[in-house]
Amino acid sequence: MASIILESIFLKRSQQKKKTSPLNFKKRLFLLTESKLSYYEYDFERGRRGSKKGSVDIEKITCVETVVPENNPPPERQVPKKGEDYNMEQISIIERFPYPFQVVYDEGPLYVFSPTEELRKRWIHQLKSVIRYNSDLVQKYHPCFWIDGQYLCCSQTAKNAMGCKILESRNGSLKAGRSHRKTKKPLPPTPEEDTMVMKPLPPEPAPSAAGEMKKVVALYNYVPMNVQDLQLQKGEEYLILEESHLPWWKARDKNGREGYIPSNYVTATSNSLEIYEWYSKNITRSQAEQLLKQEEGGFIVRDSTSKTGKYTVSVYAKSAVDPQGMIRHYVVCCTPQNQYYLAEKHLFNTIPELITYHQHNSAGLISRLKYPVSRHQKSAPSTAGLGYGSWEIDPKDLTFLKELGTGQFGVVKYGKWRGQYNVAIKMIREGSMSEDEFIDEAKVMMNLSHEKLVQLYGVCTKQRPIFIITEYMANGCLLNFLRETQRRFQPAELLEMCKDVCEAMEYLESKQFLHRDLAARNCLVNDQGIVKVSDFGLSRYVLDDEYTSSMGSKFPVRWSPPEVLLYSKFSSKSDVWSFGVLMWEVYSLGKMPYERFNNSETTEHVIQGLRLYRPQQASERVYAIMYSCWHEKAEERPTFSALLGSIVDITDEEP
Ligand code: AMP
Repeated sequence: MASIILESIFLKRSQQKKKTSPLNFKKRLFLLTESKLSYYEYDFERGRRGSKKGSVDIEKITCVETVVPENNPPPERQVPKKGEDYNMEQISIIERFPYPFQVVYDEGPLYVFSPTEELRKRWIHQLKSVIRYNSDLVQKYHPCFWIDGQYLCCSQTAKNAMGCKILESRNGSLKAGRSHRKTKKPLPPTPEEDTMVMKPLPPEPAPSAAGEMKKVVALYNYVPMNVQDLQLQKGEEYLILEESHLPWWKARDKNGREGYIPSNYVTATSNSLEIYEWYSKNITRSQAEQLLKQEEGGFIVRDSTSKTGKYTVSVYAKSAVDPQGMIRHYVVCCTPQNQYYLAEKHLFNTIPELITYHQHNSAGLISRLKYPVSRHQKSAPSTAGLGYGSWEIDPKDLTFLKELGTGQFGVVKYGKWRGQYNVAIKMIREGSMSEDEFIDEAKVMMNLSHEKLVQLYGVCTKQRPIFIITEYMANGCLLNFLRETQRRFQPAELLEMCKDVCEAMEYLESKQFLHRDLAARNCLVNDQGIVKVSDFGLSRYVLDDEYTSSMGSKFPVRWSPPEVLLYSKFSSKSDVWSFGVLMWEVYSLGKMPYERFNNSETTEHVIQGLRLYRPQQASERVYAIMYSCWHEKAEERPTFSALLGSIVDITDEEP
């Protein structure tokens, strides 16, 4: 199976073969690979791809562009009005598709409607990237729909009539592509072009054209795991040649060597502070203070919580008059000429220069900046797979070291890959999983890559039992971590756990990927205490009626909203409900939700509108967040992105 670049649910307009045939619009799952754009039926109930309905060969595509929206679209294709956007997040995937684009090929235009503008942009960008070397790319297109036998923009009646508007120069990739091949003379402008009154089309991100290639700098060393990979040296610059496969980018080093690199190992410009030991992203004032207290003379540079876009330097110093020590926070100031300074006016062109100066001179600070303190030692993050394109793992490369536990699919072991890399190996008990369907989807799941998701590294499918190989999380499952730990967690630590999970879920929400079984038992904790979400989407492959039926004894009733219990209606808002219950588990240190009730009593209780009580450790504000996840109406529940905002606000304000 060719590797999938993008996968989304869109509305597809029928291709109106005859002038009189009525138009219809169907929700389809679109998949983009290097060679085909295909669309499938989609089973919303079970979240699965259905039968294939059609496809277009990438090499036949001549143009990809937005389309000027219809004049009076019906509600399902209308852009939401202000204030309506809030509810849109939840229903967008299945209910509303207001952003059309066109894929033109030899049979005419295929019209596709996206639920969000961002997703449309992403698809157009990727499509333009895969077609950039096609030989028949056009220079003109039709900006409006072809409806009832004619184009609304120029009234031409032939579906494959030459376009009436010249593509704007922002389509760098098309131009770059054309220059490689048999060139066509530019066409003269048509008369319509000058007279046509058009809404301006939204700008597209320009794919990199030769001469303006993106430069990145490596944040970590990377040793190639397979022959297609390129080695990374921390601090070195690389040119990005191709960004199409999201977690792996094709790059060139300064010696001209080319290969694939993990995109989360690099950052966009050499000015980024992320490469410095002293910089901690996403750290609050109180977390900085906790860390600094461990080392006199320590300092941290962090994003200012009170002034967006600014940085703060936090320093801890003791003195003869103040043996207890004190922590001071200095906002990095910037002059109108873009020069930086701290306490006194010693001006610098860059923040690293300013820090180097104050490492040697206190110059107005309570102390010079002696030791950089960082939140977690900056160990390299997981890569999306063990090397570019390596999703089938050779079991001979695995060493089994110890058993970690047993779950729905059987035993999980800790081991090493090629004797060096820690991995967890799920040995799938035969008959417990619909294996073929999982294997089909595994490549898509491998492309899900986020620092708060337990990374899927690959699968071993050539033998039985099959293995699923994932990132190893030394502190095991969150539920046991909460229950068994001997020390007391501070409220800030509990909130941090919820924030970790919320970050992962915000990412899944942005990818329109549903977890379907979010709970503390399905989160894992690594050696640094970071919580990551695991087993996302896996419930779709469980073969066990007790688990899959909402009446079954293993169904996650206590984590499910009314619409799942009543109608099996899953959405990112049912994941939001589960997240509220997970927050409750965290704040009650691993108690069983609705502990006094059995499953059917819980269902009754929830449907009647009763909710979980406030755990002792949760403040009113924290409880308000979890409670908001349990709104009876799915559309009234916040999105993960809004939840994350509320959690960050509390992190900044509560000590
Ligand atoms: P599961 O089949 O995912 O429910 O896993 C069963 C048990 O194995 C969990 O409760 C964990 O204790 C352990 N486990 C699963 N995956 C991992 C992992 N990636 N790292 C460490 N422990 C794991």
